[in-house]
Amino acid sequence: MTKVHLIKEIKSDKYEKVLEQQLKSNFKKGMNVAVKLHMGESNKGKFNPELAKRAVKVLKKLGCKPFLFDTNVWYPGARHFSMTHKAAVAHHGFSEENIGCPIVVADDFVVTKIKHFQLKVFKPMVEADAMLVLTHFKGHAASAFGGAIKNLAMGCVSKGSKLAEHKAGVPNKVTDDCTACGVCAKLCPFHTIMIVGKKARINHLMCFGCSTCVYNCPSNAIKAKTTFDKVLAEAANAVIDLMKNKSINKPIYYVNEVMNISKNCDCMRNTGGIIAKDVGVLMSTDIVAIEKASLDLVIKQEGKDVFKEIHNHDPVLQIVEAEKLGLGKQKYELS
Ligand code: SF4
Ligand code: SF4
Repeated sequence: MTKVHLIKEIKSDKYEKVLEQQLKSNFKKGMNVAVKLHMGESNKGKFNPELAKRAVKVLKKLGCKPFLFDTNVWYPGARHFSMTHKAAVAHHGFSEENIGCPIVVADDFVVTKIKHFQLKVFKPMVEADAMLVLTHFKGHAASAFGGAIKNLAMGCVSKGSKLAEHKAGVPNKVTDDCTACGVCAKLCPFHTIMIVGKKARINHLMCFGCSTCVYNCPSNAIKAKTTFDKVLAEAANAVIDLMKNKSINKPIYYVNEVMNISKNCDCMRNTGGIIAKDVGVLMSTDIVAIEKASLDLVIKQEGKDVFKEIHNHDPVLQIVEAEKLGLGKQKYELS
């Protein structure tokens, strides 16, 4: 069973000690280490720059050559272009001067394929020797929560691929089983469904393919070729496959910051406030185990599934899909 390490006192040096202990057998001297993280919009939602800085120190102590990276986003704003993206995140504390290693944001990709479309994956990451995935764990309107799976699936790909991931789950049909009950229109987080006459009608242009209507329709009347949770798992799988380069099997390690847990994703201008108390920082070699442990700890602490309650979308679905693809195991041992 995979171990997931929980560090509650993040200001103590236990953070560095556990991370070093975990990395030292696989992250070797001289390795170029791609450190993936979301460095934030102009809101409070981001991986804590101090924790990133401390992780970089650990990597450098091991003799590795880390660089932080993120990819540009498809929606308008400072993070749409590399130059403005880098300038914006420097304001959030993610500058080479503060973090102690290069910050790389570039439109430089290699192409791979997943089930329904092409995916362009960040080339400097693919060419690195190892990867450290630093993730801020929070709620998400389209997938109930955003964690390490989403950090890889959306965060390591081009603007066009990000949009394609959202659009893959757009429903293609509302069948005659629709009773015009209005449940889908009420629950759609992007308000893109109207009841017209005796049937639900989806505005496909505005739809983000979150699959919430598909999951919640009591008549099973909304059909789509895939779901957002499947797409996230498939894209994360493709990123890991490329990174590991199959035969070489490069090391990847995960750190989830389960703190500052907002209602919505860090990408949103308004992250919607805090929905759960801080849990701490989790670390693991297994992306499925760390996501499940992060989710379980929030649910246990709050006494209810806050993500499902708020977003009407079962947060475990993306984890189940990732496990099906062999990315890891849901069973873990917390230490
Ligand atoms: S939830 Fe289903 S049955 Fe109800 S309006 Fe929407 S599509 Fe029709
Ligand atoms: S998939 Fe359904 S719930 Fe999600 S944005 Fe599209 S119409 Fe709305």
